[in-house]
Amino acid sequence: MNKVNAITNNAENWMQVRRQGLYCVPAEAYIDPHEPVERAIITHGHADHARPGHGEVLATPQTQAIMKVRYPEDNPVRISLEYHQSHGLKNNINLWFAPAGHVLGSAQAVVEFDNHRLVVSGDYKRHDDPTCKPFEVVKCDTFVTEATFALPVFSHPKLEHEMSKVLRSLDAFPERAHLIGVYGLGKCQRVMKSLRNAGYQDPFYLHGALVGLTKLYEEFGQDFGQWIAATELKGKAREEMRGRIVLAPPSTLADRWSRSLPDMLPIMASGWMQIRARARQRRAEMALIVSDHADWNDLIRTVEETEASAVWITHGRTDALEYELRKRGIHAKALDLIGREEDSE
Ligand SMILES: [Zn+2]
Repeated sequence: MNKVNAITNNAENWMQVRRQGLYCVPAEAYIDPHEPVERAIITHGHADHARPGHGEVLATPQTQAIMKVRYPEDNPVRISLEYHQSHGLKNNINLWFAPAGHVLGSAQAVVEFDNHRLVVSGDYKRHDDPTCKPFEVVKCDTFVTEATFALPVFSHPKLEHEMSKVLRSLDAFPERAHLIGVYGLGKCQRVMKSLRNAGYQDPFYLHGALVGLTKLYEEFGQDFGQWIAATELKGKAREEMRGRIVLAPPSTLADRWSRSLPDMLPIMASGWMQIRARARQRRAEMALIVSDHADWNDLIRTVEETEASAVWITHGRTDALEYELRKRGIHAKALDLIGREEDSE
């Protein structure tokens, strides 16, 4: 795309950081605002990006569906856009979504105005995920990136490698219920699907809090094989979880229900598991490094592939990434956005 003169085509002139979040002035629209606004462009369904109470929500059909599950009372005007479907906003702003590879329906918001293209990537990753469309590089003038794992120490292993640890442990400890702590949107389904791809055939046992979104993934065509609502199993029936995989939200890893599982082996799946102290905090006996965010190398590679001359960094380890990109001659700056959760995996 044309690199045109910086005065008329500088996104700084028409994008603002406001209290509610990143704001596109001519479109009168916020991107992932953390307070209720009139018009919101939502990149994906995680709670720190998709909040209830907006007047109008522009998002992919999958993200709209996720928001309906999470906020059944919420009733905004919904404008659903498939990936690559253009939509005209006020003042000749063109909006379309490109896959972000983060969770089901996750998108980069591509905003085009006055011959300038700005891409807000939301959260994204470049590693394999059999449950969503892979990240697509969109060449642009201004790229807005997250920085959750933006330190050189973060290098995420292959998914198959982490899954094989679970399968080996099941062989070694067939009497123990293997309880994996996973976030309900994305991580849970990605772990299930990749275990299936690795050949695991027994049923999964799902904590009740994971059932709704897993069903939604199935409605969008994902197949996880047989799974059983674990919290409905009472008394002796719970014995069938020995030697099987149970999935539950991280917050429940140490609660009464989890501790009462037969000979429970606690496992935590998260990008943060690369930090030993975090695994200890979660009281995990086994840590799986499974991240839904880009690691250090992928962040830099992605920025370079977009060929953006300006990079805005929204949340996470902004300093390190800003420094590294500037060293490479890219005009990078951290945006002072509030409301993003560090542990938002
Ligand atoms: Zn996210």
